Amino acid sequence: MDDHDNPSGVEGKGEGGAIDSVPLVYRPGHKLRQASQAIVDRKKLSEVYAGRESALQVNSEGAEGRQRHDPSLHEGAPPNLFTGPSFRNPRERYRMDGHKLMYHLDRVLAWQNGERIAPIHIDMGLTKFCNTACIYCYAVVQNMSRGTMIARDALLGFIRDCGAIGVRSVGFIGDGEPTLNPALYDATVLAGQVGVDTGMATNGLALDMSRAEELLENMSFIRFNLSAGTAKGFTRVHQSAGQNFDLLKEKIGELVQRKRRGGHSCTIGLQMVLIPECFSEILAEAELGAKLGVDYLVIKQCADSEYKELGVDYGDYGQAQELLRQAEAMSTPDYLVQVKWSKINAATETNLYRNGIRKYDICYGTPFLSQISGNGRVYPCGPFYNKERFFMGDIHTQSFKEIVQGDHYWSVHRDIAESVDVHKDCAIGCRQDYINKFLWDLKMPPEHVNFI
Ligand code: SF4
Repeated sequence: MDDHDNPSGVEGKGEGGAIDSVPLVYRPGHKLRQASQAIVDRKKLSEVYAGRESALQVNSEGAEGRQRHDPSLHEGAPPNLFTGPSFRNPRERYRMDGHKLMYHLDRVLAWQNGERIAPIHIDMGLTKFCNTACIYCYAVVQNMSRGTMIARDALLGFIRDCGAIGVRSVGFIGDGEPTLNPALYDATVLAGQVGVDTGMATNGLALDMSRAEELLENMSFIRFNLSAGTAKGFTRVHQSAGQNFDLLKEKIGELVQRKRRGGHSCTIGLQMVLIPECFSEILAEAELGAKLGVDYLVIKQCADSEYKELGVDYGDYGQAQELLRQAEAMSTPDYLVQVKWSKINAATETNLYRNGIRKYDICYGTPFLSQISGNGRVYPCGPFYNKERFFMGDIHTQSFKEIVQGDHYWSVHRDIAESVDVHKDCAIGCRQDYINKFLWDLKMPPEHVNFI
């Protein structure tokens, strides 16, 4: 460097020692490096690395990278030493507050190409009735009818069809309580045989413990709907006898023990549907989950219908923020407490997301994620159960394969996309909400997409 480059004649000092002739001053049109900025002394790098082995590793969270064996190299180290990834973002284990459609891009591509794709996932009720009466229950707006359930043959035929057409998972999550349908256990085993993942959301009270092993062996998850951590809260929120709280705790605890003994990978969790009546139960339930040894507690918003029939005021969630944060702080490496913040905080967002106004204008999600009512009737989504215009077929009278491959099924999906105003016709926070946002972005590309 000559004097022309460094008119001040001042020499710079880098962190690793004297760096000769570093320009230090501002000149019109040129911003030059200042002395306060560390400058790499590359000669020193070889000394830093001398004798230190490095290897391509996969860390405990599954992230892959070339990591130096001595983690102290990362602590307080200046930048530009290139010590390898330091893995500060733990892998999100379940992604409960989001979606996983990006892991099924083959199906997304087929849909973009106009193919009649099978749903990736189906949520289905197995019954249209329940043995509790939770005060937040969305099913009360879905015409529950005592004694109605999917017949065993229809259910097993449906599961076989799911395997044949490429449905990847079925959640026994729907209007009625799934354990009240005795075919639940055989359907779960069959799903395992035909390569369809299953999971279940249950109040747990009627869980047949003599068949629990079959569920643990074949289900990806068993989630208990529990919105209380005390017997008093349980009675208030679930409108069930206090002794049922003890029964439920016993069953969950026993299931956790059997899972551990059998080395099953099935995840066991609790789900709290948050309403003001259970704000005082948040910490008690987080503690209970830890005591029972479940894998997680997820706390979610209460879904309400387009007519707001459950009377949920999403503004109320503001009062629970501190309790929710305290509950999340109870997480350990083996026990996750997670709040679905994006839904809980919907009311605090911009006008665009208040009162059910969505971040997209068209629902494209239903071909990827369908829902079936506990009476066997197929609809594009749970909030549209009983809306005859959107009825797609009944697994008691038609095979599911025929339904999915038929013209009518696709005309209903088209009707959804063309006729539904998601901002006013839809339940608040429906199941397809997360994937709808992703698909909307896909369908509405900005300009200059090559500049990624
Ligand atoms: S956005 Fe509307 S139509 Fe689409 S799945 Fe949700 S509730 Fe159903």
